[in-house]
Amino acid sequence: MNKIYYFDNNATTQMDKRVLEAMEPYFIDKFENPSSIYKSAQQCRGAVETAREQVAKLLNADPSEIIFTSGGTESNNAVIKSVAFSFKDKGKHIITTQIEHHAVLNPCKYLELQGFDVTYLPVDKYGIIDIADLKKSIRKDTILITIMYANNEIGTIEPIEEIGKITQEYEIYFHTDAVQAVGKIPVNVKKLGINFLSLSGHKLYGPKGIGALYIKEGTRFLPLIQGGHQEKHKRAGTENVPGIVGLGKACEIAQNEMQEERTKIEYLCQKLANGLKDKIPDIKFNGHPEKRLYNTLNVSIPGINSQDALIMLDEKGFCASSGSACSAGIPEPSHVLKALNIPEKLISGTLRFSLGKFNTEEEIDLFLEIFPKIVKKLKSS
Ligand SMILES: *Cc1c(COP(=O)(O)O)cnc(C)c1O
Repeated sequence: MNKIYYFDNNATTQMDKRVLEAMEPYFIDKFENPSSIYKSAQQCRGAVETAREQVAKLLNADPSEIIFTSGGTESNNAVIKSVAFSFKDKGKHIITTQIEHHAVLNPCKYLELQGFDVTYLPVDKYGIIDIADLKKSIRKDTILITIMYANNEIGTIEPIEEIGKITQEYEIYFHTDAVQAVGKIPVNVKKLGINFLSLSGHKLYGPKGIGALYIKEGTRFLPLIQGGHQEKHKRAGTENVPGIVGLGKACEIAQNEMQEERTKIEYLCQKLANGLKDKIPDIKFNGHPEKRLYNTLNVSIPGINSQDALIMLDEKGFCASSGSACSAGIPEPSHVLKALNIPEKLISGTLRFSLGKFNTEEEIDLFLEIFPKIVKKLKSS
């Protein structure tokens, strides 16, 4: 296999080897069902509870406030549908933003079909919601405000603490999809005044198919997945023990090494940005210049088509993504970039580079040598 240069860490991350090592015993040696009563099963139960503590610690939550799910998508679905169904007699209004991940937008659209009313807040040119807008959109029948922590495409970080103050003042449940934030920046649920927070293992060097949901003590919650009594009746199904152990380990590593990783990734990303500016003078950077994840660069280049650029990059081993989601083979301009009012012509020339802790300076150097040539070629074709 040829070497790849992976600049797509917001899509998924390579697992940390230490995570795999932590998981390994729970496939063969310690395979028991954590709900069984024999001693050997108690080891599995213990491992699940240790992982719960590791996840909780990273968020400054109590372990009793964490449940495990199959990932970010399930966590988001669980919250949105739970609040909708348990408060439908109180109100049918939900507030979210135009730039959420589809794992929030589509459950909201589904609820609209069920008779709920959803406000999709617009964002400014950097991707940040207007707090005054949010206040104005709150109604007597608003039951949930769900606003992402950091955007996966442009990296913009929303004013979560301010939103938390408002939701507490109005006594409305507040959920944040923090899948892109957790592991990259410190997230403190106590300080933020949130009721629900979603996170996902594979975005922080953990396994795919595992995630968690923070549910603040005292918050009403109806399970999305019903069945056995696992996860204190909040999420049925035999626990994905290896996945849970892996997620716990990934959170522990993030807790210990986040600062160090940040310094390195920030440096690489800055170098990448400077190099791009230098060599492609008409390049445009999307997202907020400062209130942004330090690993994410979203750029528009006039006169190129990002799909072509991605194919040519792929030929050189570089993995990145574009400003469109491919549905049924037809690239659809990204709803996030549209919400920023970026003209469709520029959207079609938009690329996202998202770095991670396994990237190196040599990769950035190589990229800065190759990519400007690709752009030149595309512009002249
Ligand atoms: C990746 C992602 C999700 C989905 O998480 P999965 O674990 O893949 O289901 C949700 N929200 C955001 C912001 C994401 O980046």
